[in-house]
Amino acid sequence: MGTNVDNACAEGGLIVGTGHAIAARNVARRDGELVGCAHLVCARCGAEVIHLDGVRLERDLPTPSELATLRGATDLDACPLLTRAGAAEKFRVYACACFAAETAGASPAAWVDDVDWSCGGHS
Ligand SMILES: [Zn+2]
Ligand SMILES: [Zn+2]
Repeated sequence: MGTNVDNACAEGGLIVGTGHAIAARNVARRDGELVGCAHLVCARCGAEVIHLDGVRLERDLPTPSELATLRGATDLDACPLLTRAGAAEKFRVYACACFAAETAGASPAAWVDDVDWSCGGHS
């Protein structure tokens, strides 16, 4: 996969809502910078964690086949696993092949319960 964990984000990378940017570079978090990591990897399934902007999960704990649908979704409005309801525009949904989570804030990926996501490094 050619990941370079020597050039990883501080604290294993952040997941962030749409009020915060996502950077392709590694984020050192000097000056309290709240910028999301663009290269999160799941230690459990080995998949890269993708993100979908401005949507929320319709419900928690999608099945593996639902996660595959989520990860391949091109039309977010047509995907039955996602909703634009409530304050969804503030949210990002993150998904690997074994788990999905959403956030409207900014927190270390390591704080997501029940999965092991962290920065896979940046070239
Ligand atoms: Zn990173
Ligand atoms: Zn996973």
